[in-house]
Amino acid sequence: MRRLEHVVAALVLVAGGALGAWALWPTKVPGDLRLPPLDERAVFDPAQLRKAQHFETFLHWNSLASMVVVLIVLGLYAWRGHRLARESAAGRIGTGMLLGMLGLGILWITQIPFGLAELWWARRHDAADDVGYLEWLFTYWLSLTVEFGFICLALLIVMGFAQLLRGRWWVAGAPVFVGLYVLFAYTFPWLVPDDRPMRDQALLTAAREFAREQGIEPIPVRVEEVSAYTDSPNAFAAGMDSSRKVFIWDTLLDGRFADDEVRMVLAHEIAHHSREHIWKGVGWYALFAVPGTFLIALATRRRGTLREAQTVPVALFAFVALSIAAQPIFNVIGRRMESEADWVALETTEDPNGARQLFAHFTEFALADPSPPAWASALFDTHPSMLDRIRMAEAWRARSEGRPHP
Ligand SMILES: [Zn+2]
Repeated sequence: MRRLEHVVAALVLVAGGALGAWALWPTKVPGDLRLPPLDERAVFDPAQLRKAQHFETFLHWNSLASMVVVLIVLGLYAWRGHRLARESAAGRIGTGMLLGMLGLGILWITQIPFGLAELWWARRHDAADDVGYLEWLFTYWLSLTVEFGFICLALLIVMGFAQLLRGRWWVAGAPVFVGLYVLFAYTFPWLVPDDRPMRDQALLTAAREFAREQGIEPIPVRVEEVSAYTDSPNAFAAGMDSSRKVFIWDTLLDGRFADDEVRMVLAHEIAHHSREHIWKGVGWYALFAVPGTFLIALATRRRGTLREAQTVPVALFAFVALSIAAQPIFNVIGRRMESEADWVALETTEDPNGARQLFAHFTEFALADPSPPAWASALFDTHPSMLDRIRMAEAWRARSEGRPHP
């Protein structure tokens, strides 16, 4: 690609990105909503608070250290790894795949100490009581085989297009990645293991009612059985259009949470569907994938195009570095959608007490720091802090009290 072409492409991408973000940004949360001040010591038990903060501080620093090691290791691989391409007789794409898998394998090994440290810390705090070290290693090893599959597919697409289009492979590659993302988002509900229909009739009726109030067709509610591995409570919305489902972990239904709290969870997950968050996620993904692939194509320029296997280590480093750099932006978008789901759930259940109790319980059972430091929140938090979620429930209460009653 020539310089003028790069400049034009960059301008088109910036303009398209701004337009897309402008379309995807608005939410149902009132623009003038102010979260009231709230002292966390008045909401949470001080001993509990200290325990959660102590627990999470270690995990934050451990994750940050592992991120730095990832960048150093892949940086070194990008610098030296191209030499290995000469030794291979596997053809261009085959050699590219070997280099991709080698890079992932090296990365995988360097991450073992951080994973073990995290498990050791969780076990010390009874937050992972049923997971043994060998079991963890085995699951971690399985995750590598899945990652090998993904990287081979990604390299097949990228290097395949690069054989035809050279440095312009990203123009065809990015739309294919977005298409695969849609396919994955659509089929995901069928990939959830150990799930069954929810049987609680009262909760099922509530879920139907919530969907109707949010203006959508009823969403099937499934229970995922995870209590053999963890005590942590969780739930999520998955699928799009005809595959839409809400999944509730059975740890939410073991009696520790009141029905009001589970209803709040249901209303929140249904709101992810009624506000089309999965489709919006596709939109945001596209806004990152298109410029991301363009930047990866630029990054490999000095070593050739991705037609040649020796550029794969640089491309891998560029991909991981860009992903880490984009994480804080992704998290801002994620937290924005989560806030909208909370707000819509409050409008649906009209139950700020249930919400407040739920978030307080989450803090307790997940050992979550209700107000983590700003740097950790920016890097790692996909949801608003529990303190902010409680503050939103209070903001909703204050607004509803100010509303004229019919
Ligand atoms: Zn959510």
